[in-house]
Amino acid sequence: MLIGIDDTDSPQGMCTTYLGAVLARRLIREHMRVREARLVRLNPNVTWKTRGNAAVMLDVGGDPDHSFTIACDLVEELADFSCENTNPGVVVVDRRLDPAFYRKAVTDFCTIEEAVAILDAAGARYRGWKNRRGLIGATAAVASELLDTTSEILVYRQPERFGTPREVDRQSLFDAEAATFPHTWDTVDTANDVVVCVPHTPDPVLFGIRGTSPRWVMAARQMIESEPPGIEQIWVTNQGTDAHLLSGKAGHLSEHLSYVVPGTVTRAPETKTGGHVSFTMSDGDQSVRCMAYEPTKNFRQIVRQLLPGDRVVAAGSFKKGSINLEKIKIESLTKAETIRPPLCAVCNKRMTSDGKGKGYKCKKCGARAEAPAVEESLRSLIPGWYEVPPTARRHLAKPLCRGIPDF
Ligand code: ATP
Repeated sequence: MLIGIDDTDSPQGMCTTYLGAVLARRLIREHMRVREARLVRLNPNVTWKTRGNAAVMLDVGGDPDHSFTIACDLVEELADFSCENTNPGVVVVDRRLDPAFYRKAVTDFCTIEEAVAILDAAGARYRGWKNRRGLIGATAAVASELLDTTSEILVYRQPERFGTPREVDRQSLFDAEAATFPHTWDTVDTANDVVVCVPHTPDPVLFGIRGTSPRWVMAARQMIESEPPGIEQIWVTNQGTDAHLLSGKAGHLSEHLSYVVPGTVTRAPETKTGGHVSFTMSDGDQSVRCMAYEPTKNFRQIVRQLLPGDRVVAAGSFKKGSINLEKIKIESLTKAETIRPPLCAVCNKRMTSDGKGKGYKCKKCGARAEAPAVEESLRSLIPGWYEVPPTARRHLAKPLCRGIPDF
């Protein structure tokens, strides 16, 4: 059977993955077999999410009625019902559901009614608390079909330490990244000297290591020194797979969906208040704004070098009329030209402008010229893919260390 759970946490505490990890242990204690623990991230632009829009699925061998009862009891025991935005859902199905619902949940928006109709048609056991919104994520989790997967080991805290400052040795995190990158990623952000894998919220997670396989995340995990940990769970995930990206076209993008969009830069990048960088690109007669926000740090240096005429492919979520860049491909660069007063043909000295549209004059010999000198200047940008740094990376975004995107 497949057990799906979602929406059990609040900004004040808890985490659906922790509840899933505890559930796996309770089922094993009841002599059931847990074949897979899966963590799916869904549409990152859902505004009612607590943090990363995660839902979990356990693939279990055992009695479905018994496990449904255990799962519901655990939700009642651990979920943070005090928060208005916590609306848990638990689903138990005998077979995987149509993956179309998962695909919609990761790329688009679903309704509670859609989830319930699918569950009823499949004869699923399910329960939703409060407004029952968690049934969307729980249904998507048991419908998930992952064409590409990564691993994450989540190391949780001992319950008595929840809400207290975390103790994780900083240097051991940098050492683990150095020893296992590119097979693991986003443990730390080396360029910005920031730890990425230790949360700052009062949830049960101590740290999480992402990587290509259980072996690699475990290899990195074993290098990390910290306070005495509680339980640990290796999850199969859709993180770092770009599962949220749709193929899009400027002028035909829907708000709060995520796209890969080709275009030609039409308006040069500008840095706005707060350090946010924006430029406009177009595809035919339709144009769209692209944003590299301040938290994307050094990525903005790349974006700032773009010039009108450069051909790019932008990837990111479309929000408030802009593509919020997660990564960008520079396909081809236009020639950069500098327009300067010409050199005097007699003296070889730079002429001076006589005013707009009035031509140029040599100060030394008085020679005149009408046209300026148009000189080609070097572009330091190199075509290829560029991405935001680990501190700014979204859970679903595929890091370039996993390979060059094929879109
Ligand atoms: P948690 O650890 O509790 O899962 P979270 O940050 O992952 O925290 P949730 O608290 O689960 O976020 O909130 C997300 C809510 O949005 C859930 O109720 C989920 O069912 C719902 N949801 C997820 N994806 C979609 C979608 N594509 N359309 C509509 N609702 C969605």
